[in-house]
Amino acid sequence: MNKLQVLKQFLGLKLRGKFRSREALVAYQEIRWAAFVNSTLTQSPFYLPYIKGGKVNRQTLPIIEKATFMDHFNEINTVGIDRDEAMALAVKAESSRDFDSTMGDITVGLSTGTSGKRGLFLISPSERESWVVMVMDRILPPKWLKKQKVAFFLRANSNLYTSVQSAIYDFKYFDIFQPIESLAKDLLVYQPDVLAGQPSILMALTDILTQGNSKPTPWRPKQIVSFAEVLHTEDAAVLKTVFDAPIREVYQCTEGLLGVSCDHGTMHLNEDNLIVEQEWIDDQYFRPIVTDFTRKSQPVIRYRMSDVLKVKQSPCECGSPFMAIEKILGRDDDVLWIQGKRVFPDVLSRKIALATDAFSRYEIVQTGEAEIQVYIQSNKFEETKAAIASVLDEYLLAQQNQPFQILWHSTKFNPSLKQRKIRHEIQHTIH
Ligand SMILES: [Zn+2]
Repeated sequence: MNKLQVLKQFLGLKLRGKFRSREALVAYQEIRWAAFVNSTLTQSPFYLPYIKGGKVNRQTLPIIEKATFMDHFNEINTVGIDRDEAMALAVKAESSRDFDSTMGDITVGLSTGTSGKRGLFLISPSERESWVVMVMDRILPPKWLKKQKVAFFLRANSNLYTSVQSAIYDFKYFDIFQPIESLAKDLLVYQPDVLAGQPSILMALTDILTQGNSKPTPWRPKQIVSFAEVLHTEDAAVLKTVFDAPIREVYQCTEGLLGVSCDHGTMHLNEDNLIVEQEWIDDQYFRPIVTDFTRKSQPVIRYRMSDVLKVKQSPCECGSPFMAIEKILGRDDDVLWIQGKRVFPDVLSRKIALATDAFSRYEIVQTGEAEIQVYIQSNKFEETKAAIASVLDEYLLAQQNQPFQILWHSTKFNPSLKQRKIRHEIQHTIH
């Protein structure tokens, strides 16, 4: 990675300053789009036919989803990489836990939700530089006189992430396939300034560090970074109590760095790098269709995310013209499907929280199309079971004729990585 380039881009971003208005932002997006058509879409066999006289009417481009994106992988990417070769390499790298998978100078990464559907992402050196610039600008502002120690809890390391390693940051990768208890010990030895991980990991760490008491830990990070999964409000409150540090929430997925929360805790979409079209579900919720100007080796154009975003009604006090999001709902890996209907985890967990407080912990796992397992840790098992059953019944009553099985288990949880309140296990294909 060219550090001079990173510095130049970072300073450029700082000098550009903030957008004064939504109109200024939209005008800027259109300039970036025109440049992107010329620099990138002309290199993509999939998009080339849409270019007429050096221009593309964005609305004529197909809206695509993950399946199409993977089916047309070879034609979409601009660097001539073959999907099957890249997939073989990425799977090998991940199963050997040696994450150095490059083809030429392109990094190949594997993405899987717990749904297990495989995706591939390609990152070129210059895209890595742009990513680092965004991290410096929005997530970890550099403190020039002191190196910041960052503990990064990840399913799979990638040289995308370690590329932030530099004079300003000291990165330590914590492999979440290792037992969480030993990771927690290492964490206390390392004592990072920044603790970064997905919410389920961060919650498991709080359990261990406080031995379940939600007391502040002896060591405290200065910043928590949460990514990859939805951070539920109640979990955020526990993290704040235990670590006494601000939380920066990052909306990053295979499709790119989509958003970051501001100092007021509001998630804003990175609209200086993205155009986000809204496919409205009702007057508050929409599915984002993303076009990303930073992805040149693997263009992400009018890509319909599986997430549902709830728009924030009142303007954020920070004054950013970037779209403010109240909530991210239904990351694929958390969603339950009950008789063909999507059930959002935070809706379900909120209903359960309202119905009962008699448990210390529960987990709902969908293990089949018509099968859910409910694990409850409680000294009032029957009471909790009745409350959760009544909530689930709301979803089942609509179609009483179709069989749907709920299996109940009384259990004692160990703090473990895979623990989430609500989980979907069907289609788990990666072993
Ligand atoms: Zn804000």
